Amino acid sequence: MAATPVRVAIIGGGIIGCLSAWRLKQLGMQPVIVERGQLGRESSWAGAGILCPIQPWLYPDDFTRLVDASLAMFPGLQQELSVLTGISPEWLQSGLMIPFFPDDAVDHRQAALDWSQRFGWQVRELDAVQARHHEPLLAGDTSGALVWPEVAQVRNPRLLAAVHAVLEKEQVEIIEQAEVSGLIDAAGRVAGVELADGRAIHADAVLLAAGSWSGGFAESIGISLPVKPVKGQIVLLKGEPGALTHIVKHDRAYFVPRADGRILVGASMEMVGFRTGNTVAEVQAMLNALTRLLPGLADTSIEQQWMGFRPGSPDGLPFIGPVHECPGLWVASGHYRNGVALAPITAHIISRWMAGTPPELDMSRFLPGRTVLDSAKIGFPAQAAA
Ligand SMILES: Cc1cc2nc3c(=O)[nH]c(=O)nc-3n(C[C@H](O)[C@H](O)[C@H](O)COP(=O)(O)OP(=O)(O)OC[C@H]3O[C@@H](n4cnc5c(N)ncnc54)[C@H](O)[C@@H]3O)c2cc1C
Repeated sequence: MAATPVRVAIIGGGIIGCLSAWRLKQLGMQPVIVERGQLGRESSWAGAGILCPIQPWLYPDDFTRLVDASLAMFPGLQQELSVLTGISPEWLQSGLMIPFFPDDAVDHRQAALDWSQRFGWQVRELDAVQARHHEPLLAGDTSGALVWPEVAQVRNPRLLAAVHAVLEKEQVEIIEQAEVSGLIDAAGRVAGVELADGRAIHADAVLLAAGSWSGGFAESIGISLPVKPVKGQIVLLKGEPGALTHIVKHDRAYFVPRADGRILVGASMEMVGFRTGNTVAEVQAMLNALTRLLPGLADTSIEQQWMGFRPGSPDGLPFIGPVHECPGLWVASGHYRNGVALAPITAHIISRWMAGTPPELDMSRFLPGRTVLDSAKIGFPAQAAA
C-alpha cells in the first residue's frame, strides 16, 4: 500500500512558495498554498528577473554554490513550464555588462575577474571601443567594461503565470485572499495554520514562505527570523527592440532589456517599512543614472512604474530549512535581491528535505537560527528611513 502523502501548508504564494508547492506535489506530498492576496503579486512579480546576484563576489562561497546550482536548473525549468503550460518565462541569455567610467566610486574590476575565474563564469574584459561596439548607446566617456555573456534573465510575471498554470494543472490546492494569523499546535508540534477569518487548515508540516512578511510572522509566534522589507522601485521604458541588448549594471542602477524592446530601470534600495508607492526622488535618481550611462535612451517613453518589497536578510543570505525550536515548521525566505535566481534550488532542496532527503549542498550558512554574517555591503541599506 502506498504511504499516505504528507500535507504541507505553505504560507505565501510568491515564487518561493509556488515552486516549492509544485516540487512537493511531484514528490507525492499534498501542498496547500495559503496566500493573503493573489498568488504571485508581491516581490516575485515586481522584481527585475536578473539571474545573477548583484556583485556576487561580495558574498561567501557557499552562496555562489547555491546560485550556481539554481541557475543550472533554469533551462530545464523553462522547458518544463513551456511544454506543460504553453507559457514561456522568457529565459534569455542576454548577458550582463558592467561598464566603467572615470568617476566610478568603487572599482570592482579585479574582484569581479577573480571571482569569475574561481567559479568558472565566462567573462570578457572590453576596452572603451569594444564596450561601445557591444552597446552603442553607452556614454562617450566609458573607459571599458566587463561582460558575462552567459548571464540570463526571466520575465517575472510570465514565470509566475506559468507556475500558476502548472499548479492548477497539477491540482495543487490554492487558497487566496486568506491571511495566516498563527500556527496550530498539537502536543508541541505544528499541525497546521490558523487563518485571520477563523478557519483552520490542518497539515503535517508548515512552510513559511511569506517573503518580506516572514520576519513579522515569525516574531508573532515567538521565533527570531530577521527578515525585513527592503523596498525597490522600478520604471519601465518602452524602447525599440535591440536598442539595448545586455543587462547593464552600474553602481546602484541597472537596466534590463526585454526581447520586445521594453527596458526595466531599477532599482531603489529603501528601508521604509511597508510604505508603498513610487516617489519623485527615487524615480528621478534612477532616470538620472539612465541618462548618465545610456544618454541615447533619454527620449524613450516611460510606460509604467511599480515597486515591491524584497525580503531582506541582514547579510543578504536566505533562510532555508527546519526551525528546530518549532518542530514541523520550515522556512524558505529572506532571499533578498536573489529570490527569483534562487527559487529553483530553494524549491528543490526544501521539498526533498521535507520529504526526508537531506540537501546535497552544505546548508549550514542558510539555516534558520544561524549566525547572521556581518556584511553590511550586501545586507540592509545602512540608512533606515524615518
Ligand atoms: C524591485 C525589485 C527587484 C528585484 N530584482 C530581482 C532580480 O533581478 N533577481 C532576483 O533573483 N530577485 C530580484 N528581486 C528579489 C525577488 O523578487 C525576491 O527575493 C523574491 O521574489 C521573493 O519571493 P518570495 O516568494 O519569498 O516573496 P513574495 O513574492 O513577496 O511572496 C510572499 C507572499 O506571501 C504572502 N503573505 C505574506 N504574509 C502572509 C500571511 N500571513 N498569510 C498568507 N500569505 C502571506 C504575500 O502576500 C506574498 O504573496 C527583486 C525584488 C524587487 C522588489
